[in-house]
Amino acid sequence: MSNVTVCVRFRPLSHKERKANGDNVCFRKLDSESFVFKYEREEDVIFSFDKVFYEDAQQSDVYDFLAVPIVSDAINGINGTIITYGQTGAGKTYSMEGPSILHCNEQKTGLVQRVVDELFVCLRSSASTWTVKLSMVEIYLEKVRDLLDLSKDNLQIKESKTQGIYISGSTEISIVNSSDALENLSVSVLEFYSECLSLCRYEFIFACLSKLQQGIANRAVGETQMNLASSRSHCLYIFSVQHGSTSDERVKAGKIILVDLAGSEKVEKTGAEGRVLDEAKTINKSLSALGNVINALTTGKQNHVPFRDSKLTRILQDALGGNSRAALLCCCSPSPSNAPESLSTLRFGTRTKLI
Ligand code: ADP
Ligand code: MG
Repeated sequence: MSNVTVCVRFRPLSHKERKANGDNVCFRKLDSESFVFKYEREEDVIFSFDKVFYEDAQQSDVYDFLAVPIVSDAINGINGTIITYGQTGAGKTYSMEGPSILHCNEQKTGLVQRVVDELFVCLRSSASTWTVKLSMVEIYLEKVRDLLDLSKDNLQIKESKTQGIYISGSTEISIVNSSDALENLSVSVLEFYSECLSLCRYEFIFACLSKLQQGIANRAVGETQMNLASSRSHCLYIFSVQHGSTSDERVKAGKIILVDLAGSEKVEKTGAEGRVLDEAKTINKSLSALGNVINALTTGKQNHVPFRDSKLTRILQDALGGNSRAALLCCCSPSPSNAPESLSTLRFGTRTKLI
């Protein structure tokens, strides 16, 4: 990875924040790349990033800047990853999924839906056979859980010459566009469409999103069973794209992983015990492992990249290392009441960017 794009997004003030502090915000905009951060306990500091999305930024602005290059590269066999980071309530899931994964309001759809759409548009214009494989997992307390099949609650991460890093046994939904491949389809959403040799855009999008919706619903089921909040686990959407015929050598395979990270907020040191403390420790460990990995990659210490320090960085290994592209969206509340957590998020983003 030669570089990582680091952006910041301030969501609009919430109703509650407005009630507590009026229209006050913790930053003063300078331009589309920098702002002054105001925090009563410290001196004002100027932060600069590749791009800053302020309250009025649209979902499409975020997508166009962060994701478009990653999707077009994935189709050419270059792996990519997009990560949302920030405290709980800062806008990570909103940026990823919009108000809901099946939300059809064009303006509000998130990164995930837009990636799905763009994948189809790009693949359609390539004449060859293609396959998109979709899987969705959650990492909680360093265990990888299959969100498309809850009975698989401790998946192992493996590596092979042909597949690179992969999650062994995870459910993969295959969406194939080729006449011969359609005959071989077993259980898949595409059974519905098996008569059509070529999928239309909305069928493709529906096939993907209805599966992701199931994953999100499964996440909620698991949560109530285990009594945990989604803010305590990392959620990964994994798209593997292959196109070109396998009979010739020119088959291209790329992977895009979208990561909605666990909340980065610090847990009160006093009072936290048992599971809450375990959660805090593992989240802290994997977030700092992520920071260390990106840092090692961007500073050129390629020989000592600590991918194996957490499940998260291990899964992201070939989407971050080697010939790949990465983008980090640091999500922040604009409210002065959240300034300490926002500051810590901005510092994470800055460290990641440091050369
Ligand atoms: P997180 O996933 O980081 O915990 P959410 O994405 O769930 O946070 O956002 C918290 C709340 O703020 C949600 O009600 C969400 O709809 C709202 N929100 C977040 N970002 C935006 C935005 N850019 N525009 C409008 N509402 C937003
Ligand atoms: Mg969330």
